[in-house]
Amino acid sequence: MDLNWSPEDIAFREEVRAFLDEKLPKDLSDKVKRRGELTKADMERWHAILNEKGWLAPGWPKKFGGAEWNAVQKHIFEEEAARAGAPRIVPFGLAMLAPVLQKFGSKEQQDYYLPRILNGDDWWCQGYSEPGAGSDLASLKTRAVREGDHYIVNGQKTWTTLGQHANMIFCLVRTDPDAKQQEGISFLLIDMNTPGIEVRPIILLDGVHEVNEVWFTDVKVPVENLVGEENKGWTYAKYLLTHERTGIAGVGFSQAGLESVKRIAKAEQAGGKPLIHNPHFAARLAKVEIDLMAMATSNMRIISQAAAGQAPGVESSMLKVKGTIIRQEINDLARRAVGPYAMPFPSESIEGDNDPIGPDYAGPQAAAYFNNRKLSIFGGSNEIQRGIIAKVKMGG
Ligand SMILES: Cc1cc2nc3c(=O)[nH]c(=O)nc-3n(C[C@H](O)[C@H](O)[C@H](O)COP(=O)(O)OP(=O)(O)OC[C@H]3O[C@@H](n4cnc5c(N)ncnc54)[C@H](O)[C@@H]3O)c2cc1C
Repeated sequence: MDLNWSPEDIAFREEVRAFLDEKLPKDLSDKVKRRGELTKADMERWHAILNEKGWLAPGWPKKFGGAEWNAVQKHIFEEEAARAGAPRIVPFGLAMLAPVLQKFGSKEQQDYYLPRILNGDDWWCQGYSEPGAGSDLASLKTRAVREGDHYIVNGQKTWTTLGQHANMIFCLVRTDPDAKQQEGISFLLIDMNTPGIEVRPIILLDGVHEVNEVWFTDVKVPVENLVGEENKGWTYAKYLLTHERTGIAGVGFSQAGLESVKRIAKAEQAGGKPLIHNPHFAARLAKVEIDLMAMATSNMRIISQAAAGQAPGVESSMLKVKGTIIRQEINDLARRAVGPYAMPFPSESIEGDNDPIGPDYAGPQAAAYFNNRKLSIFGGSNEIQRGIIAKVKMGG
């Protein structure tokens, strides 16, 4: 295993930096850095810029229009994009559904949907979770009954991220209520404009409309929108989740966050001295920096194994747990560093005509802290990941 960057990796990093310098719109990166709320148009703009360059789908095979980067290249891009303040690319179509269609979809589905994902014609959201089916996803109840050449879908999905922007949703539905839980599930592609679908907003702790409930009442879905075979959806769902967890360690985000905390702690005062010299604060900062360095090294080790063709196993659960703890600790340090100035939410402090309250870096910190509580819940909660790690490493 070689943890050093090769000359090709270094050249690739320079190419990525040059591209970001030239093509990442400044208003977008400014908004990302001050944690302003990205609009649908903002996200679509960056999507289109990457697509034009051919870098929108790093992991897709070239035959489907992807860049076919290896694990190291993907990591370098993610690190540089986070450093530059690029908007995160919405993963549901590109990084979750597309691998499923490429492996299990029909030729017609591949030919129709994959170019539309690249071109931004479709905005996908993920309809997995239900009120009674999160960690225990296989207990999902949304029902699809075959009637001629359609399924009739009834039920409710929840926590549907950015569903308010989506025109398509991929859903896990129960097609055989009598089979064992995992065996009666199918994977359906549903047009959000079909009559009977209602999207209701859920406002998160930071006051932002990021997730939704999606209700289905007698929704007619053509049978050609079934992916793979009926009642085999659990296999496809699990395949998709392995892609959902990729890159979840968020090393680049943590590095950018840590630099920002250091800048804030140098500017803020505590007891007449810069906060960064406060022993308690400095100790927490040092600990999280050491943890991040250790995780970045583990991440490189796993990436280097992946580049050599070894699929990550339980390591992705370890990265998910550690990576999210680090990101949440960085958010907490930033929030504490600005004290009461963290309290105003971005909509009140940094958007619109309001005068900023406190220094301009302070306004978004409470919102960031509250919003990132989600990191240890989605993509398989940290408790569930710990259970997986324990099972693999300790048996049982
Ligand atoms: C911001 C956000 C966005 C999301 N976006 C989407 C989306 O776009 N599409 C989608 O389908 N879903 C989405 N989710 C849902 C997410 O996948 C679920 O929240 C997650 O799987 C946990 O399920 P739950 O919320 O039902 O909690 P539960 O499963 O009810 O868990 C409650 C608590 O119990 C713990 N727990 C549960 N089972 C065990 C166990 N066996 N061992 C130990 N502890 C356990 C959990 O860790 C958690 O702390 C999103 C969630 C959030 C918060």
